[in-house]
Amino acid sequence: MLSSSTSTLRLHQPTRPHRRHPPAPAAGGTTHLGPSRRWRGPPPAAPPLRARPQRIRAVDAAQPFDYESRAAGLLEERQHLKIAIVGFGNFGQFLARTFARQGHTLLAHSRTDHSALAATLGASFFTDPHDLCECHPDVVLLATSILSAETVLRSLPVHRLRRNTLFVDVLSVKEFPKNLLLSSLPPDFDVICTHPMFGPESARDGWDGLPFVFDKVRVGDCPARRARAEAFLNIFEREGCQMVEMSCAEHDAHAAETQFLTHTVGRMLAMLELRSTPINTKGYETLLRLVDNTCSDSFDLYNGLFMYNKNSTELLNRLEWAMDSVKKKLFDGLHDVLRKQLFEGSAQVPSTSNVRK
Ligand code: NAP
Repeated sequence: MLSSSTSTLRLHQPTRPHRRHPPAPAAGGTTHLGPSRRWRGPPPAAPPLRARPQRIRAVDAAQPFDYESRAAGLLEERQHLKIAIVGFGNFGQFLARTFARQGHTLLAHSRTDHSALAATLGASFFTDPHDLCECHPDVVLLATSILSAETVLRSLPVHRLRRNTLFVDVLSVKEFPKNLLLSSLPPDFDVICTHPMFGPESARDGWDGLPFVFDKVRVGDCPARRARAEAFLNIFEREGCQMVEMSCAEHDAHAAETQFLTHTVGRMLAMLELRSTPINTKGYETLLRLVDNTCSDSFDLYNGLFMYNKNSTELLNRLEWAMDSVKKKLFDGLHDVLRKQLFEGSAQVPSTSNVRK
């Protein structure tokens, strides 16, 4: 049986490194391995967090062949994953730095040969995707541009991977890769769609407190596959990310309002070629930073936010309407002043209370 994606938004408390532990045994001595292990606050009778691993070991010692305790052990083993990053550009490399620091084994593949850079991270770079797949990674992480995702995915010899490999994408839109992965991959593959809501610029000082959106679209209902999915999500949880479980459709609705709007305003301001002045206000400096933050991403990325999120066109229309409304308010007021001058011979500007709202 497969766990299906949820339409409910769940905010999970961020946890600190080493705070993730195998689930504590429930009453009756069995261990819960539910579909989600995000930390939701202490259960009433739970032991202190630090004591938990010892309790699991005690269960293992007493019942070495018990199904649940073997599963808990598997969860521990699975903390170190072999991750293949497909699309080793700006964002793929950014993620790889943290994956490497956490001790995961890294493989990488991209259109361009990034082998020298990969070597500095201890990652093995493969120019041929067949060689990459034959290494049997636990996780294949798709980090290509949104626009190239379909071509890249279809170029992968997925038949060379293990039968139930976990595929994860980090594309900044979510419904498109969800449909793509479900329609392109064999049904035995697990699929998690994610969007780290930060990048090399905004998270240069770390990921602590930054939102990480995920949708466990398809995770096979067996301990090993659930443990692998949890181990992958734990990478972000350990860094202190705010873990937000949300359906891909909900993500796209919110992202048009937040991310696409932010990038559009940043790119519009960039067209004005704003410069720093000797009298910058705080607000103006915020605008300058917005230009930097948004325009350092590739135009392909921005274009993908527009092309592959069905909510983006409406947002552009609303933005245009908002600009027109503000202009109209100003010009209507100006019109009132001119009319007074023309017809009443008064050159005085009316007080703001006379300006039509
Ligand atoms: P990007 O321009 O969106 O993607 C660059 C990557 O796509 C590079 O690896 C590039 O290959 C590959 N690529 C582009 N066109 C290709 C083509 N025609 N055929 C094969 N590969 C192609 O920039 P990015 O910032 O690295 O983003 C990567 C992904 O992460 C995107 O889906 C983006 O939405 C997502 N994301 C980015 C951020 C961020 O802050 N940057 C945050 C969250 C999610 P080469 O290696 O050959 O250049």
